[in-house]
Amino acid sequence: MTKTLGILGYPITHTLSPIMHNAAFCELGIDAQYVPFEVRPENIESALTGLIALGVSGVNVTIPHKESVLPFLDEIDIDARRIGAVNTILLKEGHLVGYNTDAQGFGNAFAQEIARPLAGQQVMLCGAGGAARAVFIQLLKENVKDIIILSRTLARATKMLDDLLVEHRDVKTTLCSFKDFSENNFSPDVLINATSVGLQPNDPHLVPIDFFSSNMVVCDLIYNPPRTPLLSMAEEAGSLVMNGLGMLAHQGALAFNLWTGVQAPIDVMQRALLNAFESTRP
Ligand code: NAP
Repeated sequence: MTKTLGILGYPITHTLSPIMHNAAFCELGIDAQYVPFEVRPENIESALTGLIALGVSGVNVTIPHKESVLPFLDEIDIDARRIGAVNTILLKEGHLVGYNTDAQGFGNAFAQEIARPLAGQQVMLCGAGGAARAVFIQLLKENVKDIIILSRTLARATKMLDDLLVEHRDVKTTLCSFKDFSENNFSPDVLINATSVGLQPNDPHLVPIDFFSSNMVVCDLIYNPPRTPLLSMAEEAGSLVMNGLGMLAHQGALAFNLWTGVQAPIDVMQRALLNAFESTRP
């Protein structure tokens, strides 16, 4: 019988996940289909029960359900619990098991595209939401010992450090608000944007134009638009840049591995995503 997988979100019209997962199933000859499920926030609990009743094999979870699904899961992987967000659910014998593949997905994308170790680098991480928490965990795993957190809401950033730094007291962390940014003379080796600033054309600049340098690596988790103003400015200054498309593909590949037990064809998934972007370009 054809297996069904999918993604729970609201709204869900612009998701690229079906394109990359269906391309992977097709490549490997796996009899499965991946579909979008539009689930209103008030229906998330019944939607999860419905997945069990319908025999769905697994789902991704996206905005606005990444945090709200946690109380309804039977098991939660340690990283997902620490991050406080789930982006992948595996249905196993009627049990819902939650994972977060964003952290390792970021790490794999960085390794593939930047091909420099993160260890030993000073990293500036912008944001303190779900994606920032995932990246923060990955930075700790990769032995980054010097992290600057740039955040609009310092209380949220403080909570992130309290929650995640427990076993990493040797890591130097510096907290800074966007408001106080100009008073500091930061010059990190790596800058990572994990805020939603840059999604909209009229968003403010995250950092000033003279911030970038040619020996800096600049990553934006945003993939649509593929070149945010942050990445354009960084590229102009000669920085090495990476957008969020690689992370999207790698988090998807890790979810695919969990659901199927088979190594995901990452190159096929990346090509499917790139083709989807090309075909929507005006
Ligand atoms: P989230 O939990 O809603 O967090 C959003 C973050 O952005 C918060 O830290 C928020 O600050 C900050 N922010 C929003 N507007 C801001 C502004 N005007 N100035 C300064 N900071 C601002 O969202 P998320 O799930 O972490 O996602 C964040 C971004 O990562 C999104 O663009 C998303 O598309 C991207 N993402 C990409 C991937 C991928 O696979 N490439 C995966 C996950 C997420 P406050 O705390 O002050 O509200």
